[in-house]
Amino acid sequence: MIRKLIRKVLELPSGMAKGRTKPKVIPVSQHGVRRDQLSSAALRVTNRLQEAGFSAYVVGGAVRDLLLDVSPKDFDVATNATPEQVHHLFRRSRIIGRRFRIVHVMMGPETIEVTTFRGGGIDDLNETGRIMADNTFGSQEEDAHRRDFTVNALFYDPSDESIIDYHHGVKDLKARRLVMIGQPARRYQEDPVRMLRAVRLAAKLGFEIDEDTRRPIRAHAHLLQKEPPARLFDEMLKLLMSGHAYACLRKLRDEGLSRGVFPLLDAVMADDGDDRFLQLGLESTDARIRADKPVSVGFLLATLLWGQVNRRWQELIAQDEKSLHALLQAISDVEAEQDNDFAIPRRFSVTMREIWTLQARFDGRSGQRPYRFMEQPRFRAAYDFFALRAEVGEVPRELVQWWEDFQRGDAQDRESLISDAKNSGEAEPQKKRRRRRSPRRRAPGEGSGGSE
Ligand code: ATP
Ligand code: MG
Repeated sequence: MIRKLIRKVLELPSGMAKGRTKPKVIPVSQHGVRRDQLSSAALRVTNRLQEAGFSAYVVGGAVRDLLLDVSPKDFDVATNATPEQVHHLFRRSRIIGRRFRIVHVMMGPETIEVTTFRGGGIDDLNETGRIMADNTFGSQEEDAHRRDFTVNALFYDPSDESIIDYHHGVKDLKARRLVMIGQPARRYQEDPVRMLRAVRLAAKLGFEIDEDTRRPIRAHAHLLQKEPPARLFDEMLKLLMSGHAYACLRKLRDEGLSRGVFPLLDAVMADDGDDRFLQLGLESTDARIRADKPVSVGFLLATLLWGQVNRRWQELIAQDEKSLHALLQAISDVEAEQDNDFAIPRRFSVTMREIWTLQARFDGRSGQRPYRFMEQPRFRAAYDFFALRAEVGEVPRELVQWWEDFQRGDAQDRESLISDAKNSGEAEPQKKRRRRRSPRRRAPGEGSGGSE
């Protein structure tokens, strides 16, 4: 009953009529993507499926990227074989996911994701139009229809190097336009994460979001709050690791997606004034990613939230708190805010916190301190972060230089650097610590004569 009603309200097709739309078949002479541009694993997987009598195509982002002369991150294959049939054909493969069953086929260092064509209609939606199941098999046409953007719904057939295009994807790609398949508002209700994908892909590809696709975003932004935090965090990570993080964040802000979705972004976007540090940090990450260099997620998150931590730190110092105490307090204040709504996974937050905490140690340049500091496993990350701060004038460049020289120098250089610092008067600890432990910090029940 209720489903009938939704179908009426949404005017959803009751499953796509099979073979209703004739796709465009674009020959290689017109698009130029050759089969040797595929990874050898993608080619072998499609070959073997086709030899076994199934249809098999490279699909999605890889086809889009090849058409744009960008090297694909990974290759996805779509087929009419069921997950069991696929698994049967490849010794090194496994079926993963319960609700969304796909097959991972391992070939050498590569993993190819093989999905069976998806169909499905109204029965897969809940009362609000959100997709709940996505495991009904369908035809190639239905599969194309369930994808998000027209440029993401292209099928490449390695056997004849043709591209099969149901939704004018190639035309939109040439016009550098991101167009949602079907009715955008409805597609955002089905899956709100598509709004984030629109922003990420537009920034990554340098595409315009088509006006009809863009317009409903603002009004549907609130739907993202109901998505599982883990999925949102994953999507945000993709966004930050896209090689276009800064452009993505600006676009999120432009499209009204920056507030009330991720507390993490709220915190960042609240810095409406000076975001030079953020820009510099993200741009250096973007450059590393584009140059295929490794990037630490903890470092990235530390960059994102530093504006907040630093502001709080400076406030506390102005209230006469000692530098390190003030920093630790600032960190815990900012983390408490994040944790309320949206926990950053521990494997990242540990690094993030360490990079922040170590910022207080660059002042200590006397005695054994610099040596001990340099032995810290996170010293290098903390140093890179410190250097970034110097770029925006938060800390003196000379101090960065001193640490650079100290790292490079031999034993003698290091001794003379320490004595230079001493002579310049900066290296002395601000106040001599008179007692090792302050009574305030002693744990309850711990005797005054307890040993450490
Ligand atoms: P990337 O370059 O980031 O890998 P991509 O488009 O390949 O971009 P994937 O997450 O790898 O993104 O998804 C592969 C394909 O699956 C997409 O191209 C699209 O066709 C489809 N897809 C992914 N997510 C969705 C979604 N939320 N709704 C509909 N289709 C989706
Ligand atoms: Mg992909």
